Amino acid sequence: MVTINSINREIIDCVRCKRLVSYTRLVGKNKVRRYSNEEYWAKPVTGFGDTDANLLIIGLAPGAHGANRTGRLFTGDHSGQWLMKALYEIGFSNIPSSISAKDGLILKNVFITSCLRCAPPSNKPLNSELVNCSNYLVKELEILKKVKVVITLGHIAFQTYCKINNLKKLQFYHLAKYRINDKHLIVSYHPSRQNTHTYRLTWEMWLDVFKLTKSIL
Ligand code: SF4
Repeated sequence: MVTINSINREIIDCVRCKRLVSYTRLVGKNKVRRYSNEEYWAKPVTGFGDTDANLLIIGLAPGAHGANRTGRLFTGDHSGQWLMKALYEIGFSNIPSSISAKDGLILKNVFITSCLRCAPPSNKPLNSELVNCSNYLVKELEILKKVKVVITLGHIAFQTYCKINNLKKLQFYHLAKYRINDKHLIVSYHPSRQNTHTYRLTWEMWLDVFKLTKSIL
């Protein structure tokens, strides 16, 4: 029987994308100075949260010095800070930050995953790597039976979700909302440093995503 634990074990042991496996290990060896005393996870990163959740958030991939270091998605980097602060403000988590896998964070009614489980160089995965990894997201979607709202963060997560569900002609723009059978899809820009520092994504625009989600759930 496929369970979230069996999927997670498969993910952690996965070595399908040679380029990404080498890169994540290399980053774990050649640490940046500010994390030089830390032991990097340096392996594929699983999803986490409430498996009975009504909300599923799909990001791009572990950050090289974020989740690839801490072993938990959206943990220990800028994107994680934005995500957890917003989730806390709207009532989806018990603390407003995400610093390490042992920080006591509890997600409420939310499961977080990503379309790629290994950190890609320059945050740019190859198409073949996305294809390789999409099977894990398909399996999670089968397990997470209570999901009513899916938020995709960034264009690649949006495209991956559309491809998996054979959704054609949907447009990517911030706060786009689509009804797909029994689920709602909400489209968001990714809270990457590149987007937030250029004000492509402001804090207000970001919070609107979760206010919209809350209005549906
Ligand atoms: S990106 Fe996905 S498919 Fe590729 S090695 Fe990592 S876990 Fe495996």
